[in-house]
Parts: sequence; structure tokens; C-alpha cells
Amino acid sequence: MADPVREIIADLRSYLEYLKGLGIESLPVSEESKEERGDRSSLPSSAPALEEVRKELGDCRRCKLHKTRRTLVFGEGNSKARLMFVGEGPGYDEDVQGRPFVGRAGQLLTKIIESIGLRREDVYIANILKCRPPQNRNPEPDEIEACHPFVLRQVDAIRPRIICALGTFAAQTLLKTNQKITALRGRVFDLGGIKVVPTYHPAFLLRSPERKRDVWQDMKRILELLKESSEEG
Ligand code: URA
Repeated sequence: MADPVREIIADLRSYLEYLKGLGIESLPVSEESKEERGDRSSLPSSAPALEEVRKELGDCRRCKLHKTRRTLVFGEGNSKARLMFVGEGPGYDEDVQGRPFVGRAGQLLTKIIESIGLRREDVYIANILKCRPPQNRNPEPDEIEACHPFVLRQVDAIRPRIICALGTFAAQTLLKTNQKITALRGRVFDLGGIKVVPTYHPAFLLRSPERKRDVWQDMKRILELLKESSEEG
């Protein structure tokens, strides 16, 4: 067999293995237009509005987490993304690197994004909290209260069509509810015209891999919503 063909087969095999690892049994067949992939180049740039939010955060000392953080993790990705992911808050690796979702859970999130035919650069990734809670403890109410206006301002700047809320804290904060993630996932919510799809946090999936199937259902729903919204224009 010719080398390039062998290479393609090897690539395909590793893709299928990774999908299997994610619990995915059917291929994400997508023929997305540039628009569906997240490219909204015809829109005015949202980068200045995002920079404004970053400037206002500054060297934030609004809550006690500033005393223990190494780096403030603002968020990253396509400032005109149609799809935005919102997590809880930075962990160890994020605190060190200053980037969201770069540790083990982040690597899984990257695979989840790729499983629907997108790349990390196509979407925007942020957290409710911009600073790491010590020992990765749960965020406390005063920390969420001080920080969550900034993620809302990031949402306002980007105006994504869909937000995927990762885990309990992100979903509860964005949707202003105390319902558990098990009650929230599988449903689509509205946040000022933006669709919110809650799903399990990738860190939870690392502990409960059998839940990856549910996340795959949620990702397929997101793909449908992206398609619908690109048809709406
Ligand atoms: N968990 C999160 O919620 N956010 C990150 O950025 C990393 C891990």
C-alpha cells in the first residue's frame, strides 16, 4: 500500500479510537459552512469589546481568590464564535498557564469540541470564575457574585448563538437556578436570545466515563442548533 494511503488509514484509525474513547459510536458527519464552523467574518469585530472587559478586570482583587491565584484566566478563542463554552473556574494547570481548560479535563474538552467537527479556535472558552479556588475547592457564593458579571460581559461582547454550560456551577450561575445538573442537562434554555445547553463537566466525565454518551447527545443537539441558527441567518 502507498505511504500516503497508509497514513490516512492510520489517522482514521486514531480518530475512530478517540471517538470510541469518548463513547461515540456513530460518526459526526458534518458539512458545515464557514458560518457554521464559527466564522462570522462579516460581523463587526467583537475583539475590542472583549479587550474592554479584560481591561476592566485589570489586576482583579474583587474577591479573596486574588490572594492565592498565580494567574488570572480570562478566556480564549474566537471573539466572534457562534458557540461558547463556560466552565467553573481555573484548576492548577490553568492557573499556571493563564489559559482555560488546558489540564486533563481541558484535553477532554478539546476532544469533545473536535468530535463535532470544530476546533478550539472556532469556539470561545471561558469560566465563571477567573481565579483558581485553592485546592480546586468549589466556588463560594461571594466569589461567584464578584466574578460572574464578567462572564456575562464576555457573552455580551461575543454574542454567541449557543452557550454550552459545563457542569453544575456554570449551569446554575448562568441560568440562575439551584437545580442539579442532572435535572438541567438534556434541555435547552434561553438567555436573552442565546440558547444555553447544559452538560456534564469534563472533569466529571474523567471520573464517570459512562456519562460520555449523554454528553454526545448534548453535542449532537448543539450541532442541530448551530445548523438551525445558520439557516435563520
Ligand atoms: N475546569 C474548569 O471549570 N475550567 C477550567 O478552565 C479548567 C478546569
